[in-house]
Amino acid sequence: MNEAFAPTLAATHARIAAVRPAAYARTRNALDGAVTGLSPYITHGFVTLADVLAGVAVRHALDVQHKFIYELGWRAYFRHVWRHRGDGILRSLHEGLLPDDAYSVDLPLDIREARTGVPVVDEAVRTLYATGMLHNHARMWLASYVVHVRKAHWRVGADWLYGHLLDGDLASNHLSWQWVAGTGSSKPYLFNADNVARYAPAGWHSPGSVIDTSYEALDHMARQPVWPRPREREARDGSGSQVEPPLAARPPAERGLTAPDAGAVAGHDVWIVHPWNLGELPATLPAGTRVIGVFVDDFHRVWPWSERRWHFVNTRMAELCDERWCGDAAAIGAALKGARSVRSVGEPHLAPWLAQWAECVEASALFPAVDRRCDSFTQWWNRASRGLHTAADLLAASHALNEPRRTESLPP
Ligand SMILES: Cc1cc2nc3c(=O)[nH]c(=O)nc-3n(C[C@H](O)[C@H](O)[C@H](O)COP(=O)(O)OP(=O)(O)OC[C@H]3O[C@@H](n4cnc5c(N)ncnc54)[C@H](O)[C@@H]3O)c2cc1C
Repeated sequence: MNEAFAPTLAATHARIAAVRPAAYARTRNALDGAVTGLSPYITHGFVTLADVLAGVAVRHALDVQHKFIYELGWRAYFRHVWRHRGDGILRSLHEGLLPDDAYSVDLPLDIREARTGVPVVDEAVRTLYATGMLHNHARMWLASYVVHVRKAHWRVGADWLYGHLLDGDLASNHLSWQWVAGTGSSKPYLFNADNVARYAPAGWHSPGSVIDTSYEALDHMARQPVWPRPREREARDGSGSQVEPPLAARPPAERGLTAPDAGAVAGHDVWIVHPWNLGELPATLPAGTRVIGVFVDDFHRVWPWSERRWHFVNTRMAELCDERWCGDAAAIGAALKGARSVRSVGEPHLAPWLAQWAECVEASALFPAVDRRCDSFTQWWNRASRGLHTAADLLAASHALNEPRRTESLPP
């Protein structure tokens, strides 16, 4: 198993210590640019955005408008949209270039198998399967090709990518696909071979392929309901073609999980660890608290994960928990009934269930809450950063916002 992303706090903190904001701002669009690789850790709650910025700000003085903080803002913005729209983020927020039914509901097999013959697309898929990660620009290229060139609906592309990513997050992923498709933004994202040549290594360059054309031609292509499959120079011997790694609704059987067990928690205080709160346990847990990890089948039947992601999450969970349970939400809820108290950290991926079982604190937010729904990032950013000048201002505001909530909600 590839351990480029070791599921440990030490690996998380090493990545935070290595952030170079000036280089980040200059080079983040390049595939070999100074990006952080922090998203699997942020997605799974090893650290919050506030922890990340605090770790960076002790080493670097940053203006609040710095590119690095701005990008952290995108994640918070997508969560803002999710909070306001709920499951609506899984449907087109508005019509894009074409009606929804103009797009296919199947992701073409040659994309899944990295044999489209367009190097930028095939390299992106190979990288995704080999590492569980993909640079932001590569995600944009891949999504744009899927939707605008191959006419697959953004939702099938988003569901597929979500399953294979280590950092798959329904808000960041599905709303980014909508941003590319033009159903969540004012215009679709299109790219051509020159753009790839500027930001990617030579093996990704795609001269002579369908995307080696002008933006006018790409725009025309994107507006046509039907576009014949481009004739590319597909490798005849199948070299480079990939078998899509399987996705599973449960962690592999040998991972040491058990069914929900009421006997293990009866009469105890319980702290629930789930796949999105894998950071430090609260320092204030009462003595004798049982720490129980949960994987909720109801969620994963709809949103299966790769073996790599199961390994990443389950390894860290094993480190934190007395027991790890895997089962239906109903069975988990029933097993927790006899506990003296049940607490956890709130998480929208588990929204239908977690709040029924546990008293939840919210994960520390970095940005001030923006109550009014914003339909563009700029609108949200202007409100979220209003009156703040430096990273230190933002962190102080975040601290003031989170501290009372934390002390109210946790036992002394
Ligand atoms: C089609 C598509 C799908 C995506 N799916 C996901 C997803 O499932 N999960 C996910 O976390 N991100 C997703 N992103 C956003 C972005 O690509 C990743 O957050 C980023 O590439 C992660 O790498 P990094 O940690 O090195 O990012 P860095 O550039 O180092 O950024 C640091 C952190 O800022 C946040 N961030 C940076 N850029 C963005 C962005 N554009 N949108 C949201 N947050 C951002 C992330 O938390 C990231 O870890 C998607 C983008 C696209 C275009």
